[in-house]
Amino acid sequence: MKLHEYQSKEIFARHGIPIPKGQIAENAEHARQIAAHTGKKVVIKSQVLVGGRGKAGGIKVANTPDEAEKLADQILAIRIKGLPVRKVLVDEAINIAKEIYLGVVVDRAAKCATMMGSAAGGVEIEEVARTTPEKIVRVQIDPAYGLQDYQVRELAFAIGIDKALVRDFVAIAQGLYRSFVETDASLAEINPLVVTTENRLIAADGKIVVDDNALYRHPHLEELRDIDEESLAEKEARKAGLSYVKLDGSIGCMVNGAGLAMATMDVIKFYGGEPANFLDIGGGAKADKVKAALDIILSDPNVKAVLFNIFGGITRGDEVARGIVEGLKGVNIRVPMVARIVGTNAEEGRKILASANMITAETLEEGAQKAVAAAKAGGR
Ligand code: GDP
Ligand code: MN
Repeated sequence: MKLHEYQSKEIFARHGIPIPKGQIAENAEHARQIAAHTGKKVVIKSQVLVGGRGKAGGIKVANTPDEAEKLADQILAIRIKGLPVRKVLVDEAINIAKEIYLGVVVDRAAKCATMMGSAAGGVEIEEVARTTPEKIVRVQIDPAYGLQDYQVRELAFAIGIDKALVRDFVAIAQGLYRSFVETDASLAEINPLVVTTENRLIAADGKIVVDDNALYRHPHLEELRDIDEESLAEKEARKAGLSYVKLDGSIGCMVNGAGLAMATMDVIKFYGGEPANFLDIGGGAKADKVKAALDIILSDPNVKAVLFNIFGGITRGDEVARGIVEGLKGVNIRVPMVARIVGTNAEEGRKILASANMITAETLEEGAQKAVAAAKAGGR
């Protein structure tokens, strides 16, 4: 679950990280009042759960309250990467001399949390990683010892932080790490961490991604969930207890098991297709889950074919197949359906599916190739 910039910055502030004075407005008139009350230049910042708002015209500096109202009105009317803007943060503007990147992520390869810093802040870090990876400096954090001050000093030195700012930089890095640990985050980042023209450090942007599996320990964070920001498909999936991630391809995937779902996506790509989603319907593949999953997959207009990849284990293949056939009832099947089913009673399962007009396959390779071919034929 992603937190908004203003929510993330509030958490940072509680851990001693300096942030600009600011308030949330849901309409332009309120933005004007906040700006008037501030009595200074302000920045109007769209609160949407995507990066690159600056480039998309979602962040504007206003010199007067009237200008703040005008700009807030404009920003509240646009969509950023498809998301409507419902709130703006009105922050006291800061005078930027330099923009630094500072973040903590769960680093799966290193099996620990890693702090990353870069002098190339302000732009999306994925962009820096792609074009100039040498500009990112990493520090691995031992969970038992925590982040050590000397590690942060080394990082500060490596990315050229002014000596006079190192002490504050260490405090900010420690605050960021504490924010990360306290919220069970998978990511906590400040981008940019600004060096002002008065040579002070301040977090101009903030982002925290909370691990969904840890949310049960943080009811107060769950309350911060912005359901307006979830896509309809994500909302439906969460309600149905399905793990669903929308992607941009044309082949819908319905798989029982997360690892199998990942493998299925790989094989689709291997045969020249693009998965439209990640979806794990969990063990068994019961009719109600199949139906909910199909509704979600088919609501995506890009989907040109659906590949079922089902492993019949404890639940036998024929039972799974009956669940699928039952689940298909009442769903408008507008694209070809390919099913690969293996495991106990797979043969019976395939017969049941074939009689329900599904294209069947014995191996994943065969299933993926058939799905890719069907999607291509349907796309024409
Ligand atoms: P993002 O594009 O979604 O990551 O949004 P950010 O909050 O990082 O803002 C993007 C850019 O807008 C920053 O890198 C800054 O260059 C600029 N910006 C943000 N806040 C301020 C501010 O208070 N003053 C000035 N002058 N620029 C700002
Ligand atoms: Mn940013």
